[in-house]
This record gives sequence, C-alpha cells and structure tokens, in this order.
Amino acid sequence: MKIARRLELFKGYLGTEMNMRLTRMREEGRDVINLGLGDPDVTPPPHLLEVLRDAVSHPDHHHYPSFYSNRPLKEAISGWYGRRFGVQLDPHTEVIPLLGSSEGLFLIHFCLLDIGDVALVPDPSYPSYEAGVTLAGGQAETLPLLKKNSFLPDLQSIPAETAKKAKMIWLNYPNNPTGASADLAFYKKLVEWAKAHDVVVVSDNPYSEICFDCQPPSFLQAPGAKEVGVEFHSLSKSYNCCGWRTGMLVGNKDVIAGMAKIKSHSDRGMYYPMQVAATKALNGPIDFMEERNRIFRERRDVVVEGLSDIGFAVERPQATFYVWSTIPKGYTSQEFCFKVLDEANVWMIPGSMYGQFGEGYLRIALTLPAERLAEAMKRLENFCG
Ligand SMILES: *Cc1c(COP(=O)(O)O)cnc(C)c1O
Repeated sequence: MKIARRLELFKGYLGTEMNMRLTRMREEGRDVINLGLGDPDVTPPPHLLEVLRDAVSHPDHHHYPSFYSNRPLKEAISGWYGRRFGVQLDPHTEVIPLLGSSEGLFLIHFCLLDIGDVALVPDPSYPSYEAGVTLAGGQAETLPLLKKNSFLPDLQSIPAETAKKAKMIWLNYPNNPTGASADLAFYKKLVEWAKAHDVVVVSDNPYSEICFDCQPPSFLQAPGAKEVGVEFHSLSKSYNCCGWRTGMLVGNKDVIAGMAKIKSHSDRGMYYPMQVAATKALNGPIDFMEERNRIFRERRDVVVEGLSDIGFAVERPQATFYVWSTIPKGYTSQEFCFKVLDEANVWMIPGSMYGQFGEGYLRIALTLPAERLAEAMKRLENFCG
C-alpha cells in the first residue's frame, strides 16, 4: 500500500508509545512509577459529574451537535475570560469551542500557513506544534528557550530576516515542559514585536489555573493583543477533566472565522452533553481549584526538595504541574531517563524529546500522590548514589 510521504516528516506522539511500553512492564510485574503522564489523578468536581450524567441521560441529546445552539457555551467562555482575565470577548465572533485545544493547535496551521511559510516554534516545546506546522506544509524555525532568559524567547535576537518571513509565533506560558511563567510585561513586548513584523501570535495557555501564589495572565490582556493574535485555553487542566476534550480558541476574529470554516469540514462540533457540562463548569464555582493547587504545590515541594538533595539543579515552578530539572553529567537525557526506567522503575521524560535545547534536562509530572513521588525520589537517589 502506498502511504503519503508526509507521514515520514514527523514523529507520532511519544506518550502513546511510552504508555504501551510501561503497561507491558507492569504486566511483567514491575512496579513502575510513571512521572511522564501529563494527565493528573485529580478528578472533576462532583457537581459537574452530575450535570454530565443528567445531560447524557436525555434521549434528545444525541444528535449531531451542530443541531444545537452552542451559544450558551460561547457565552460561558466569554464570561469566564472576562471574570478571570478582564478580557472582553464577543461570544459570536471571538470565541470558538474546540474538541480539546489539541484539535485546534493542530488545525490552526492550516488556517495561518501556506506551503513553505515559516512558523516560529519554541524549543523545548510541546511536540504537537512542530508536527502541525510540518503537516500543513509549513516550515518550523526554532526559537530557543534558554535558562539564562528564564525560558522566555529572546525576541530581540530573532534575526530581522526570520521575523520578516515568519507568519506565526507559538508561545506557551505557563510553560510545558519548563514550568516557566510569562508576565504581562513580556506579552506587551510580544504584541509590539508582532505588530512591527506582522506575525500572528498563537498563545497556548492551558495551565493558567494550575498556579501557586500567583495568577498567570492571558496574552490577550496586553493592549492590542486581539489585533495580532489568538489564545488557546482548555478545561482539561483547569477543571481536572483531560478526557472530556473541551477546549477553546479566543481572540482575533479573522482567525476564529478561519477555524470555524476548517472545522465545518473536520468535525460536527462538541458532543452536546459535554457542551452542557463545560458551560456549567465555566459558569460555576471554582473554589475546588484552591485545594487542587494545594495538592500540586505539596507535590512540587516533595520533588524539588528531593531533586535538590540529590544534587540536581532545579527551580521551583510557580505554575503548571511539571518540574524541569538538569540531569547528571555523563549522560544524554535519553540515556539517563531510559537507564533510570530500566534500573529503578521510574519513568521521567527526557528533555530532548521536546527539542534540542531540552538536552541536559528531564521533565517530571506531578500527576501522582506525594507518597509515590517521594518513593520515586528515593529510587532516584539510590540510583545516583
Ligand atoms: C495539556 C496541554 C494542552 C491541553 O490540551 P487539551 O487538548 O485541551 O486537553 C495544550 N497545550 C499544552 C502545552 C498542554 O500541555
């Protein structure tokens, strides 16, 4: 059979492959601690499960979703952005719900790039950005995220030539995998830069609610942001419901209209009961987030202190449920992480899986209970000791 050559241009999602491998190891009886998974053990607030159950039970709720108005959900998204960030969005022209933001952060390249167009992609970053650029026929140019710049891109160091060619720039703060945050001052500079070079800003902001002693901003809070860009957000992390596949794209109305056109062919909208539950979530109480974040903070401290005691250079992230750490000298990230998996039954993701500038690092997800994380730190200490 002849399969398209474009499939050779990008790698499949690492998580899928690793989950199969770790499942096999468990079946062989090994007590593997998986610190790779970006899907936490926390659960949605009970009132949302009830809303979803009731919505699913309704016999009329199983038609093509485009049969229903998605106005309540769009208005809920707009209301949530207004309350949380002080950003005003027209629910009809500046908001589009997505089947998880992953769907949109893949499709947006078809909206913004023609064949051969340049997209600036941070390194390290979520591998789906580059895969999306490549599949749409675009060309990804690396935007290094370096520790000396607090893992923010150095906009001034982007060559004028590259800035001129670029059609879009990807940003993701609070950041996966580095745990770094961006402040409003950075977003203001970004808007200026994007205006000067006519580049569309695409901000991916799913971790804004996983935060400790801070309130991460939205890119759209920067004056003029809507003229130059859009932002992805998602209920996955905010509302402890990664499996729901409920996300959103908001901001510039030309981009939103483009996405709506693409999506009119690629899907028929979000399952109606999910819309009902997502609407309820966005309009409802958020006090559960405080306790949830307390849990992540406690886990963060277990891991940061554990790693520091072993001698790894690690910073304490103010947001996200990831810890980004250096690895011991004498290994590549891959060598180290696979050796730890084989010998200590702990899986952490090699930084190089997120790009060449991730080499020398590893990522730990705080998606297991503190006791399990403490056990993982003990195994790591024995391994290194
Ligand atoms: C988890 C995550 C998302 C959210 O994806 P959904 O499809 O909305 O679940 C988006 N971007 C990054 C970088 C993430 O880590």
